[in-house]
Amino acid sequence: MLLLALAVVAASTWLDRVRTTSWKETLWVGVFPVNGDGSETAERYIASLTTEDFASLETFFASEAQRYGVTVQQPIRIELYPSPKDKPPLLAPGSGLIATAWWSLKVRWYAHRAADVPGRAPSHIRVFVLYHDPELTERVPHSLGLQKGLVGVVHAFADPQMRGQNNIVIAHETMHTVGATDKYDLESGEPLFPDGFAEPERNPRYPQDKAEIMAGQRALSPQEHAMPDGLRDVVVGPATAREIGWTRR
Ligand SMILES: [Zn+2]
Repeated sequence: MLLLALAVVAASTWLDRVRTTSWKETLWVGVFPVNGDGSETAERYIASLTTEDFASLETFFASEAQRYGVTVQQPIRIELYPSPKDKPPLLAPGSGLIATAWWSLKVRWYAHRAADVPGRAPSHIRVFVLYHDPELTERVPHSLGLQKGLVGVVHAFADPQMRGQNNIVIAHETMHTVGATDKYDLESGEPLFPDGFAEPERNPRYPQDKAEIMAGQRALSPQEHAMPDGLRDVVVGPATAREIGWTRR
């Protein structure tokens, strides 16, 4: 029985991967807003959300995919779902391998239940966005995206002015679910050269005008970096394009 269950899980993980990296049809990315801090600000912000708030994600994936010769017109489509009843399980900072593996199982099980919305078609990828009141939280916890299980857990700010940056984080974690790896130094946050740079060939190298999506930040100097205001100033670099199957080799 156990072997059979493992075989089913392995086969469905493999099928997920084939389906989400073939780019022959539109991938549905479900956004599930969650009140991250129980605040009224987050509650109000979530109530005001519409699919339009996430439109820059669809445009970003479409225009970047086209640059790499991907023929599907609309690589991703954002679907906004109602808030799930419970919050996703969170990974404690500094967790080790075993704790992380256990969390990833729990979050997949959570996503499986939470994304089951009566009367709504299921999405391929599920992104749970936890909104925080910027007055209460200056820095939100790390966001995460898992390729196994196609789940993202994003921490975002409940503030219309942060919409552009929130969408950068959602795009970054969505990219993880389809196989992209980080391109910044995990200690310092600095974009890694050359793959984490939008224009590695640029002379002078600094400051970079745009950010590479898996670096998330644009390098201003060897020590300084900043997040752009929105996906308009973000690109998908060749290394990321290869990882997610937009190009071969
Ligand atoms: Zn990342």
